[in-house]
Amino acid sequence: MRFHKSEAAFFVFIAVILAAGVIIFHAYDLLFSIAAGLAQSERFDEIVYLSKLLFGAGLLLATGLFFGLFFIFPLIRRQVREENKLRAMTETLSAQSRKLERAALTDSLTGMQNRRYFDDALKEYLDEFRRVNRPVGLMIVDLDHFKQINDTHGHDVGDEVLKAVGNCLKDMTRYHDVVARLGGEEFAVVAPNMDMEMMVRFAERIRKAIGGMAIVSGNVRLKITASVGLAVWDRREPAEALYRRADQQLYQAKKTGRNRVCA
Ligand code: GH3
Ligand code: MG
Ligand code: MG
Repeated sequence: MRFHKSEAAFFVFIAVILAAGVIIFHAYDLLFSIAAGLAQSERFDEIVYLSKLLFGAGLLLATGLFFGLFFIFPLIRRQVREENKLRAMTETLSAQSRKLERAALTDSLTGMQNRRYFDDALKEYLDEFRRVNRPVGLMIVDLDHFKQINDTHGHDVGDEVLKAVGNCLKDMTRYHDVVARLGGEEFAVVAPNMDMEMMVRFAERIRKAIGGMAIVSGNVRLKITASVGLAVWDRREPAEALYRRADQQLYQAKKTGRNRVCA
C-alpha cells in the first residue's frame, strides 16, 4: 500500500504527538516517585501544581490526537481519493484524445497517413528544407482503371488491392518519406533530399513493383498498373503549386497511355 505525501506527513505528526505523550507520562511518573520520597511539608504545593501542568499538557496532546485521527485524517483521505480519481480521469482523457488525433490523420482502410496528414507534412517539409536549401520530391500514384476492378470483382476485392498497394508503397519507401493515401485509388509519396533523376528511378521502381504484384481473389490473379506524376520542389513555390505540378504530370501519364511515370 502506497501513501500519499500528505498521509505520510500526517503519520509523522501523530508519531511526534505520541512521543510527546510518552515523555509527559514518564515525567509524571518521575514526579510522583520524587513526591513519595519527600516529607509532607517540603514544596508540596509546587509539586501538585507541576503535576497539574503535566496533566493539562497530556490532556491537550490527547485532544490533538483525537482531533487529528477523527477529523483531519478523514479530510486528508478524501482529498487524496479525489486527487487520484482526477488523475485517472485526465489520463484516460489524454489517451482518448491521442487516439482521436491519430485516427484523424490515419486512413482507416489501409492504415496509412491520410490526406490531412499529407497536406500538413508537405508544408512542414518544405518549411524545413527551405532553410537547408535541399530538394524535396513529390510523387502522386494513381491506379489505372481501378473502377473496372471494382465493377468486375467487387468492392471488397478493390479494397484488398488498395491495402496491397499501400503495403507495397510502405515497403518501398524510406522511413522519413511521407506515404499517404490521398483518397480513392490515389497515393502520394513525399521524398526529401531527392532530385529529379533520383525521383524518376524511385518512381519507376514503385511502378514496376505495383505492376508485379499478384493479388489473388478466389481463383483469379489480379494484375494492376499505376500511373505516376512527379515534381521536384523549385525551392520557392508553395506546397499547393508543387502538388499541382505533380498532378499535371499524372494527368499526362494517364493521357499518354497509363502505366508510366511522367516528370
Ligand atoms: P484512371 O485509370 O483514369 O485513373 O481510371 P480509374 O477507374 O482508376 O479512375 P476513376 O476515378 O474513374 O475511378 C476510381 C474508382 O475508385 C471509383 C471508385 O469506386 C473507386 N474507389 C474509391 N475509393 C474506393 C475504396 O475505398 N474502395 C474501393 N474498393 N474502391 C474505391
Ligand atoms: Mg485511377
Ligand atoms: Mg484517381
